[in-house]
Amino acid sequence: MSGAATRPAGRHQGPGANKAPELVLELERVIKIYPGQPPVPALRGVSLSVAAGELLAVLGPSGSGKTTLLHLAGTLDKPTAGTVRVDGLDVRKLSDRQLAGLRASSVGFVFQQFFLAEHQRVLDNVADALLYAGARLAERRDAAANALQLVGLGHKLGARPIQLSGGERQRVAIARAVAGQPAIVLADEPTGNLDQATGSSILDLLAELNAAGTTIVAVTHDQLVAGRMRRLVRMLDGRIISDTAVGPAAAATESRGPDESGEGLAE
Ligand code: ADP
Ligand code: MG
Repeated sequence: MSGAATRPAGRHQGPGANKAPELVLELERVIKIYPGQPPVPALRGVSLSVAAGELLAVLGPSGSGKTTLLHLAGTLDKPTAGTVRVDGLDVRKLSDRQLAGLRASSVGFVFQQFFLAEHQRVLDNVADALLYAGARLAERRDAAANALQLVGLGHKLGARPIQLSGGERQRVAIARAVAGQPAIVLADEPTGNLDQATGSSILDLLAELNAAGTTIVAVTHDQLVAGRMRRLVRMLDGRIISDTAVGPAAAATESRGPDESGEGLAE
């Protein structure tokens, strides 16, 4: 990566480490108002911290601000107010070039619509995602082949997306997101375009990747996703209304109360 500042050391702290786990994402009192007539307040004071190794679902009805939250977390957009830190870096303090570097090295995106290049081989769809990381073509293809192996598509390297099922396409998109070993993977409705069984296998895959060390935040309005995650954040109308640990990891993780920061919007 080129100009991005160095990130803090010690990403891979085990649960037994004395220090608090490293935060890969921090939102502090984030407000996002889309300009317009009238302006749309999409986030109304959201505070959220995600530590390395977490598997977290953000749940909420359509329009509650989930995609906005992911875009800000992925530095695709900037907050109206408040602070966003990705992998320890305050995005406000970075130039556009540094932001592009941070996105390339630290963030993997998975979208509902996959966004694959239809005419390109699966292998190159994934390898191209590593262009910004500055690796040579052979290295990119190696990393891409490994990631595709990881998602169960090692036998489809030469296929074109058009020859794949929806579930396979989403696997390619996930391979693309994890190939660069980002600090955090952000998934926006990753099962939204899939039937239930296929969606379920994609959730299994996300859980497997998490078990292997990938930090994942998945946003969804699908209640079924909820049961598969280890931490559930519920949103309503631009605010976090609950944040709880669930599943087997619940005992080990502190349960957080509702977001207390909810600053009102100056109107
Ligand atoms: P969700 O992903 O939970 O459905 P969004 O974050 O997409 O919610 O949207 C939150 C609110 O912000 C909605 O009222 C939506 O209409 C509005 N919104 C989202 N994107 C834009 C935009 N680019 N311009 C104006 N309003 C937007
Ligand atoms: Mg959305």
